[in-house]
Amino acid sequence: MALSEFDLIRRFFAEATIRRPDTALGIGDDCALLRCAAGMELAITADTMVAGVHFLPDVDPESLGHKCLAVNLSDLAAMGAEAAWFTLALTLPEADEAWLAAFARGLFSLGHRCGVQLVGGDTTRGPLAITIQAMGQVPEGQALCRSGAQPDDLIFVSGPLGTAGLGLKMRLGTIDHADPAAIAALERPEPRLALGQSLRGLASACIDISDGLAGDLAHVLAASGVGAILHYDHLPLSECVTEYIEETGDFALPLTAGDDYELCFTVPLHRRDEADMVLGKCGLRGAAIGQCETAQGLRINQRGHPLALEAPGYEHFSRA
Ligand code: ADP
Ligand code: MG
Repeated sequence: MALSEFDLIRRFFAEATIRRPDTALGIGDDCALLRCAAGMELAITADTMVAGVHFLPDVDPESLGHKCLAVNLSDLAAMGAEAAWFTLALTLPEADEAWLAAFARGLFSLGHRCGVQLVGGDTTRGPLAITIQAMGQVPEGQALCRSGAQPDDLIFVSGPLGTAGLGLKMRLGTIDHADPAAIAALERPEPRLALGQSLRGLASACIDISDGLAGDLAHVLAASGVGAILHYDHLPLSECVTEYIEETGDFALPLTAGDDYELCFTVPLHRRDEADMVLGKCGLRGAAIGQCETAQGLRINQRGHPLALEAPGYEHFSRA
């Protein structure tokens, strides 16, 4: 017999989630009831993933479950928040039990690891699309906003860039040899939650890189009213990306490819050692890649020469 909507919610989702003591009421009523701790602000974010736009329709459902939650937790990480809860709005063409079981496996293995509870959602029939809203908590006044960067602050990234973009080229078949590291970066990004929390009181601004470094850093610069110089040769790159650039000359990949979900953050110049220590403590291969300046705009330097970019990042409604 076909699975009813309520059986589906109970079996794959309500019974599979962890339960947090600060959840007064989870799945099952018209709303969830959540207790935010005293002195904490609620951080909320949502991201939608649409088949054919954000993922290939034949993607492995377990990876999809992981990624839908990971991209939301990455936004919480970028604010310096602790992850607590999420909701899941699922639009499915059919109730395929094997697909749902794998999706839930990917979703909850990350969810359990990060201590987030699924507290509600919506289930509808239609073309495959998934919206997750994630909620977290951050001490009052300590969230890492995009607007705090100052001239002279150093710009850091938390890890190699362009690896997920290379993975996408492999999945699309533009490149023939599939490198497992690139595929993993694309399909199983790791939200940098511990790093985000450790950067409170240290980073002057922070963003997660979902649409490419150049575009996302430009958001920080615009919000902060500063410009910046980036040193291309300081960008951390994975081995497969280094090889790919050597073979193809496509140097723009680590600047413009999305989906890496590393954090990009700014730190006052005199606190550089603290930033390096925090990165080391979190086990990340991050690096200082540039510096903020009073002159507006983003300048990129490669071996002492200015480097020009055509398209800074992915934008859904651009006409290009
Ligand atoms: P309502 O009609 O009041 O919005 P629903 O019938 O849509 O309630 O959902 C019943 C309960 O199941 C609610 O608590 C809702 O939050 C939860 N729910 C529905 N879909 C999902 C889902 N995909 N994941 C988690 N919880 C869900
Ligand atoms: Mg509903």
